[in-house]
Amino acid sequence: MRALVVEDEVKMAALIRRGLVEEGYAADVARTGEEALWMARATPYDAIVLDVMLPGRNGLEVCRSLRESGVWSPILMLTARDGVEDKVSGLDSGADDYLSKPFSFAELLARLRALTRRGPSERPAVLEVGTLRLDPATRQAWRGEAEVELSAKEFALLETFMRNAGDVLTRLDLLEHAWDYGYENRSNVVDVYVRYLRAKIDRPFGVDSIETVRGVGYRLRRDGGG
Ligand code: CA
Repeated sequence: MRALVVEDEVKMAALIRRGLVEEGYAADVARTGEEALWMARATPYDAIVLDVMLPGRNGLEVCRSLRESGVWSPILMLTARDGVEDKVSGLDSGADDYLSKPFSFAELLARLRALTRRGPSERPAVLEVGTLRLDPATRQAWRGEAEVELSAKEFALLETFMRNAGDVLTRLDLLEHAWDYGYENRSNVVDVYVRYLRAKIDRPFGVDSIETVRGVGYRLRRDGGG
C-alpha cells in the first residue's frame, strides 16, 4: 500500500507520514498542490490524504484536477473543524471521504482502510449522457458546448433523468427525486416541467432526448438525443 500525504504544515505532515509507515504503508509527502498533482499523476497511489488548506492551489482544486485528469485514487480530505462547506465542497470535488481536524489517528487509519478496500474506480463528478453534461457541484448544465440556464426544479429533474438514463421513470419517481415534500400536489406538475426542460435542452438543438412512454412516464434516451 502506497499513500500520498498532501500537507504544507511540516509537523503535521511528518506525524501523518510516520503513523502510516508504522501501519505498513509506504508514504510520500507533498507540500503544495502543484507537487501533489505531479506526484499523484506519476504514481498510482492506493490512497491520498489531502489537506484542504494548502498555499497556492488548495485541496479542493487539487482534488478536482486529479479527477479531471482521470486519477481515481481514493482521496480522504482533511478539513477545518466545523468547516461544513469544506466537507460538502470536498465531496462534490470528487473526494471519497473527509475527516475534520483535529482527528484521532485511529480514525484516520480506519477510514483509509475502508477507502483502500473499495479501491480506485471511476466516479466522475460531472454527469454525461451523450452530449448532455451536468455538474451537480457548480449547478451548471451543457448541451454540447452550449451552457443551458435551468431553474432549480429543471436542474433537479434533469439530474434525475441523467442518473437514470435509459430507464423509464414514472411521474411519481420524478416527483420523489426532484421535488421535496412541499411540492404542489398536482398530477401535471411533472409534465409541465418536462415541457420546460425539452424547450431548453432539446428543441433549440434539434434533438429529442426525453421520450414520453404512454401511460407510464418518461425516459431520457441513453444517447442523450445524440
Ligand atoms: Ca495545511
